[in-house]
Amino acid sequence: MENFPPREVMAKKQHLKFIKEAMKEALRSHAEGGIPIGSVLVKNGTIIGRGRNRRVQKDSAVLHAEMDCLESAGRLASKDYKKCVIYSTLSPCSMCVGAILLYKIPVVVIGENETFRGPEAYARRRGVKMINLNLPECKKMMRDFISETPQLWSEDIGE
Ligand SMILES: [Zn+2]
Repeated sequence: MENFPPREVMAKKQHLKFIKEAMKEALRSHAEGGIPIGSVLVKNGTIIGRGRNRRVQKDSAVLHAEMDCLESAGRLASKDYKKCVIYSTLSPCSMCVGAILLYKIPVVVIGENETFRGPEAYARRRGVKMINLNLPECKKMMRDFISETPQLWSEDIGE
């Protein structure tokens, strides 16, 4: 029984553990009056960066959760990015997918893509593995937020 529990089950467990950390970041942002999207960067099973959408808090044009997360990990060598998995509570937008492609982060794990869907097909074609955990708690967090402050949400996705 060497292959038990199966690898995919173990991977799923790991993913859930890290997406929960991203959700903590999302809730932290919401508590600060910001947009509830969170992200963590994981290298070899360890969190090396955490971030949350801070456009409102920092009056920033670029601080989406994934960007804030990459920034918090600091300057890494390209070989290190290639060993990373980035987690985000929501499907990453064009800007964040751009950063993921630039640094060649090979795996992106997302909480959901129903309230917003970034260029996932494009990322896949460029060799990124996209895993959608499809979590009801992530969808609820975004749906509640969008219905509370639809204008703030439109601004965040450039609409
Ligand atoms: Zn983004």
